Amino acid sequence: MDRAAVARVGAVASASVCALLAGVVLAQYIFTLKRKTGRKTKIIEMIITDFDMTLSRFSYQGRRCPTCHNVIDNCRLVTDECQKKLLQLKEKYYSIEVDPDLTVEQKYPFMVEWYTKSHGLLVEQGIPRDKLREIVAESDVMLKEGYQNFFDKLKQHKIPVFIFSAGIGDVLEEVIRQAGVYHPNVKVVSNFMDFDENGVLKGFKGELIHVFNKHDGALKNTEYFNQLKDNSNIILLGDSQGDLRMADGVANVENILKIGYLNDRVDELLEKYMDSYDIVLVKEESLELANSILQKIL
Ligand code: C5P
Ligand code: MG
Repeated sequence: MDRAAVARVGAVASASVCALLAGVVLAQYIFTLKRKTGRKTKIIEMIITDFDMTLSRFSYQGRRCPTCHNVIDNCRLVTDECQKKLLQLKEKYYSIEVDPDLTVEQKYPFMVEWYTKSHGLLVEQGIPRDKLREIVAESDVMLKEGYQNFFDKLKQHKIPVFIFSAGIGDVLEEVIRQAGVYHPNVKVVSNFMDFDENGVLKGFKGELIHVFNKHDGALKNTEYFNQLKDNSNIILLGDSQGDLRMADGVANVENILKIGYLNDRVDELLEKYMDSYDIVLVKEESLELANSILQKIL
């Protein structure tokens, strides 16, 4: 685990201490609750997680790793000219996404603009559905270290995992399928590609999910949350300020532990993240902390 990992639980703590503290704090919450109500609860009933740069790596050996979008942007089916345009869009809008001086409200319209323009360009490239497997296999996308343990443990304990991503669902699903962790307890909500009768990309289905409208998307998934018997104890994983509201559609949340992965503009954003996430991990490329918590409480 990265040495720069910090936790809000107390000032700055070493990674192993923060893992332990977080686990203990959470377990204490629930046990107190159990004693009060006499109700039998599982300690963790659901994981709600972002995908890009949370489950997937931000960097590997000093190089940036691709998001779901970048997997397509960078693939060999996209022309050089289009790749250049997509890169220009990324440079402009990603800077806005992580700008510490803008509010979420100020960033919102720019994200809509980014997605609209980049999705438009991808559609022009006529990406065939049957090439997606190859595109993902040839890409540099990587899940964070410890992903196998993370997904397998949650499967073993039948804990629902809700992956809520403003990336591209088809790519995301292919990544976790190829990694062998797309278990039946995993549900993916994201932007899914729409193909024409020849299997060529013609657009995206449903309403756009972008970085800062996840609360709307969450509210549209109340049916999924309702059908799960008990949702009161949740672990939420995210890397953006927009991920904090991924559980907005869940009724009766009693305890939610929010773990934030802060990857970029660290100095300027750290305080904001520490104010909004319960635990903040800085430039952390493994799921070790989440795994330690699961190990302790499941
Ligand atoms: O899974 P997650 O919700 O994190 O996916 C959203 C990410 O996709 C954003 O952090 C954004 O930087 C990235 N993105 C991209 N290219 C786009 C639109 C979004 O790489 N055209
Ligand atoms: Mg993300």
